[in-house]
Amino acid sequence: MNQQTETEFEIESALVETSPGTEEWKDNVRFSITNGIITQIDYDLPSNESTKSIDGIAIPAIVNTHSHAFQRGFAGMSEYRTESQDSFWTWRDLMYKFVSDLTPEDAYVIARQLYLEMIEAGYSWVGEFHYLHNSPSGKAYANATEMADAVLRAARDVGIGICLLPVLYQRSGFNTNETNHGQRRFALSLDDYFKLVDNCNEKIKGNPDASLGLAFHSLRAVSSDAVNETLHYRQSHLANSNIHIHAAEQQLEVEDCLAATGKRPIQFLLDSFPIDESWCVIHATHMNSDEIIGLSNSGAVAGLCPTTEANLGDGVFPASQFLGSGGRISIGSDSHCSINLREELRWLEYGQRLIGGQRAVLGTPELSTGRKLYSECALSGGQAIGIKTGKLAVGYRADLLILASDHPAISNASKDRILDRFIFLNAGCPIQQRMLGGKWIEQNKLTEQLRCSKIAFNRLNQTYFQGS
Ligand SMILES: [Zn+2]
Repeated sequence: MNQQTETEFEIESALVETSPGTEEWKDNVRFSITNGIITQIDYDLPSNESTKSIDGIAIPAIVNTHSHAFQRGFAGMSEYRTESQDSFWTWRDLMYKFVSDLTPEDAYVIARQLYLEMIEAGYSWVGEFHYLHNSPSGKAYANATEMADAVLRAARDVGIGICLLPVLYQRSGFNTNETNHGQRRFALSLDDYFKLVDNCNEKIKGNPDASLGLAFHSLRAVSSDAVNETLHYRQSHLANSNIHIHAAEQQLEVEDCLAATGKRPIQFLLDSFPIDESWCVIHATHMNSDEIIGLSNSGAVAGLCPTTEANLGDGVFPASQFLGSGGRISIGSDSHCSINLREELRWLEYGQRLIGGQRAVLGTPELSTGRKLYSECALSGGQAIGIKTGKLAVGYRADLLILASDHPAISNASKDRILDRFIFLNAGCPIQQRMLGGKWIEQNKLTEQLRCSKIAFNRLNQTYFQGS
């Protein structure tokens, strides 16, 4: 039986839930936390009562909804032309080359470095969209969870929450049942996939900082029959688990889907499967107006990765129309060309500004742009991984950030302007403390972990990229 842990702290100011569904800025706030869950929030305490108050501002930490940890290993190393016109698809070939010899220990070293960087950036949980399953030969490891173990161990060692999303990957395109050579480490039969999920479930059982969902790589990589069989399996083995899928990231993918099924990817998803609040559709970049309304109404989260989508030349997500239809969005760092939640949020808004010739596009009459983006992505990030996080409210996890109120980037800002400046003023980072699952992340320990991790990461980096 685990011992009960109780924590309490008082703080100058915080964004807290004051009634169901309403978050407000409050001063002199006391948080009571039991076993990592917020059990009570008192605010407007008389200032002479709070002698131990932290000078700072508490906001929820944010879920990184979409990660392929191994891709951190070559992030930033494909910024040159390999063909007269480089694209997502030429980048994908480089990714296949990088991944071809990666060992489980390499995967651990990369994930540990990445997850430390995520904690430093202010992320609370990572949705690990895990499709690197097989050995370099393409055969299964004797231990089916060999590669999944590496990312689970990395998350546990650094203290970030992880929603492991083992991915089903079966074919290289709509009109084949085979994978190509570059995809040999990703492919699993349906039976092997279910075994992997069962084994992962055993590994994370009882761990409050880990959860398990299901994932399909994409419509091009998985048949409809396989999706339906997996949804059937889910009912009996993993009821209510979240489901993630990449969809409509690239224009070519839309054209291929249209040619194979007569429908665009998001429309195909909506018409073929019971898409609801438990689904997270990653990217959803290319949607027509019917698809925007359909996906909004389904309650699914659109998992956006603005810096990766820009880096890969995917296109711009129709965020204004989607949020206007009541759609839900979250953010992820995907290929990890940036591990910076403020940059993801900033580029989400900047994409809209650049194509629309307007400012403050995603703000509302009630909420400033920064506040709207932050609260929406924090809360929907929790929905996307099925964890009560992303809001400072009773019953939610104590996953939070403390901003230094005297940091020049946010000093003297009031209420929502704090988040506007946190996101849109890129002049140093005002995060001064982090709490994950009710435990403070000690800055000294984080710095030391980063120092040690860096040595192993750089050694590995040299092995893979010497001379490049
Ligand atoms: Zn992805």
